[in-house]
Parts: sequence; C-alpha cells; structure tokens
Amino acid sequence: MTQNVSVIGAGIMGHGIAHAAIMAGYDTHLYDVSPAAVEKGRAHVEGIVRKGIELGKVKEADGAAALARLETGTDLGAAVRRADFIIEAAPEKIDLKLRLLADIEQLAPAHAVIASNTSSLSLTEMAAALSTPGRLAGMHFFNPVHKMKLVEIVRALESAPETLQAIEVVAQRMGKETVLVRDSAGFVTSRVNAMIGNEAFFMLQEGVASARDIDKALKLGLNHPMGPFELVDLVGLDTRLSVLEFLHKSLGEKYRPCPLLVQHVKAGRLGRKVGKGVYEY
Ligand code: NAD
Repeated sequence: MTQNVSVIGAGIMGHGIAHAAIMAGYDTHLYDVSPAAVEKGRAHVEGIVRKGIELGKVKEADGAAALARLETGTDLGAAVRRADFIIEAAPEKIDLKLRLLADIEQLAPAHAVIASNTSSLSLTEMAAALSTPGRLAGMHFFNPVHKMKLVEIVRALESAPETLQAIEVVAQRMGKETVLVRDSAGFVTSRVNAMIGNEAFFMLQEGVASARDIDKALKLGLNHPMGPFELVDLVGLDTRLSVLEFLHKSLGEKYRPCPLLVQHVKAGRLGRKVGKGVYEY
C-alpha cells in the first residue's frame, strides 16, 4: 500500500502533483536537480494550500498537516529511498527520462511503482530502461493539477496489473477520475490538444484572426473553457513543441509543428512560466 510518494521534478506539474499527494495524506518528497526549482516548487505548493484555506475549501489545521507531510530536496537517493510510489515529472525529453528512470530504479525500493507524467512519450520505451519493466506505467495529470479532475492511466506493453491498480488507487485518493489508455503517441488528450493548438498557430500565422479573437471564438463559440493560446501559455510552448515533434515523428505529417510556434520557442517566449508567450504577463 502506498504511503510514501516521491515526485521527481518540481516544475509546473511536479509541484501540483506534490500538492495533490500531500492533500491526499501521503508523505511526499518533491525532488528537482535545481535548488531554485525546489524552492519555487515548495513556494507554489504553499501558495495553493494558502489559497485553499482563504477560499474556505481547506481547514487551516488540515492545510498545516498537509504541508508538514512535504519534504523537498536535490538528492535523488534521499528522495526515492523510502518511496512506495514515484511520479516522474521531469522535462519532456526521452533521453533525460530514460537516464533518470534507470537511476531511480537503482535507488528506490524494489516494490516501488514508477509512474511517468509524460504528456506523449512512449511508456513502453521508458519501461524498457528498467530491469523490471512491469512496475512502470503512465500517470498523466493535467495543468493546473489542483483544478483538473482527470488522470489518464497509460498501460505500457508490459505494465503489470498491480502497477495499474496502484496508480488507480493513488489517483482516486487524490480525488481524480481516471481513464485507461493503451500506450500510443499522445494518448487521447495530448493528441487532440496538440492538434487544436497547432491549428490555432497556423491560423495566426496565416492572419485568419488575432490571437485574442481565436481564443474568444473557441471559448464562446465552441465552449472551450480556455482559448488555445491561453492554454499553450499555461502548458509551456517548449513542452507543446516537444509533444508535437514527437507526434510528428510517430504519427505523421499532419502533426508537423507550425513554424510560428517554433519561432516563439526560439525567441524564448515559453509562456506564463517566463512571463511571456503568445501573450505578455
Ligand atoms: P517544467 O519545465 O515546468 O518542469 C520540469 C522540472 O524538471 C524543472 O524544474 C527542471 O529543473 C526539472 N528537471 C530537469 N532535469 C531533471 C532531472 N534530471 N531530474 C529531475 N528534475 C529535473 O515542466 P512541466 O511542464 O512540469 O512538465 C514535466 C512533465 O510533465 C513533462 O513530461 C510534461 O510533458 C508533462 N506534462 C506537462 C503538462 C503541462 O501542462 N505543462 C501537462 C501534463 C503533463
């Protein structure tokens, strides 16, 4: 049974997942290679808890108890040594994830489940980096984690039933709904979302409408809660580009990243996390 959760990577997703884990009652270690990212991640978790208390959604004592369950650090061994359940939320780069997962397997207890929060990459390829591939599967959260209800559970070729079951239990205890998806590029959500976001960039590039009007059209005409540019600014344009590059390689030409998106990334307009993306913040 899961008691100790370890979250690897304290960025946009990692801090949100760590918050969900402490609120679910798990003793949680949030790890990052960067000390600055760890500090920022902790501050973000504290901020979400504080906001919950201000809004009356969380009792002050429960918030304090949850924060007492959070450990943070930059030592991977310390982060995973006692973990029953590890969620990898490092950058969307396959080589980085393969190296990291192999290191995690060396350092973590043999029984620990290893879940990856990848938005698109092959879980089967990641599992093959382990000597025990059955213990890995996908656990795809959505941004912002504390508001989004879904977790896509992604079954790699060799994911053991107990691994999928453990992920389901943790997701439910975090208050999430789940769907089960076979390992395939982009799963359900990232594949559709990347397509919509890419098409929006092509329309902007062609001068079909302004970014504001494209966002407004999808929100008010199609009932999307956010416009595609608002969403990509939240997700991170670099992350979106990595997803599209992978879909393009795996599924074909219709996923080729729009040149205007590529230019935004080259210009360092990576979204809200750096204060500018399609919009300025
Ligand atoms: P991010 O860039 O905000 O955070 C990644 C963090 O990983 C950074 O803090 C970085 O310092 C850290 N890092 C770099 N190398 C590392 C290593 N070797 N070990 C541990 N940490 C390392 O990225 P993110 O948006 O949080 O994305 C993380 C993962 O979650 C990716 O796989 C992404 O595809 C997936 N994801 C992202 C979103 C989204 O909306 N951003 C949604 C669902 C899933």
